Amino acid sequence: MQDRRAASPLATTNGEDTNMKIAFIGLGNMGGGMAANLVKAGHSVRAFDLSEEALSAAKDAGCQTFSNAREAVEGVDAVVSMLPNGEIVKKVYTGDVIGHAPHAATLIDCSTIDVATAREVADAAHAEGYKMVDAPVSGGIAAAAGGTLTFMVGGEKHAFDAAEPVLSAMGKAVIHAGDAGNGQAAKICNNMLLAIQMIGTAEAFSMAQKLGLDPQTFYDISSVSSGQCWSMTSYCPVPGVGPQSPSDNEYKGGFAAALMLKDLKLAMEAAKRSGASTPLGGHARELYEKFAADNGALDFSGIIKTL
Ligand code: NAD
Repeated sequence: MQDRRAASPLATTNGEDTNMKIAFIGLGNMGGGMAANLVKAGHSVRAFDLSEEALSAAKDAGCQTFSNAREAVEGVDAVVSMLPNGEIVKKVYTGDVIGHAPHAATLIDCSTIDVATAREVADAAHAEGYKMVDAPVSGGIAAAAGGTLTFMVGGEKHAFDAAEPVLSAMGKAVIHAGDAGNGQAAKICNNMLLAIQMIGTAEAFSMAQKLGLDPQTFYDISSVSSGQCWSMTSYCPVPGVGPQSPSDNEYKGGFAAALMLKDLKLAMEAAKRSGASTPLGGHARELYEKFAADNGALDFSGIIKTL
């Protein structure tokens, strides 16, 4: 059997062993692939999830599995979590990680949660002497499995430096966004912009068609004019136009409308708390709320069908 340590990109040429013992909590659609990539990079991964199915898949991917989070975090160098929401993240960290993982461990929450809870959990970790970062991701299930996520990281510089080698094994870019909570801030501002941009792109294609323009002709013009944007040239909501995207597969796969709605709700909550004016973000939230009510599993570009 091949020695994983020898194959590890983290094993240095001078023989220094940089493999780590990492607890991974939350092995769902995203976390399952991310934990598998940590194993591939030569780390020992101690996995925990409430779902037996997720645990069994993690075991097949080479993780050691545990029946609770407290056991999983024993003796680790780092803890990574990929959980559904802020309430669960707070419960897991304050109940089973802080005070149970070694104090030298680096705590890394990759879930998408609200900025306020991210800062609250980081404060609780700091009070006990831990380094902690919030590191939400850009990229979906395929990027999680392929190790090509982008991480936006909030936390002090020394915490970022400690988290960076762990995150690099799961992604293509790891960017320091500033202090605790700033990773979440970057994520929700980016996704609010994406939602607004997608609705704008969908509106422009729909109106162009009503005015008698062929969608491909409109694409050829707008993609080299000032209306050009990512939603048009990388993820066009019109089937058969632009590169391959979920619109070519009846809006299946991609980034679920329900997850876009989750991010827009977090963005509007943050806007309210910070006093930011986001009229278009608010409108995008309303439109995605209506669309996701019956189409939550469809890709978010499917919103074009409502216009
Ligand atoms: P998921 O529901 O597939 O996975 C979440 C996992 O957490 C589940 O396996 C669940 O059993 C587990 N879990 C819940 N409570 C737990 C607890 N107390 N202890 C241990 N495990 C627990 O969700 P996902 O799609 O993997 O998303 C995870 C996070 O990533 C979310 O915050 C989401 O917003 C974010 N995200 C998802 C995508 C995507 O495309 N799916 C993209 C970017 C970011």
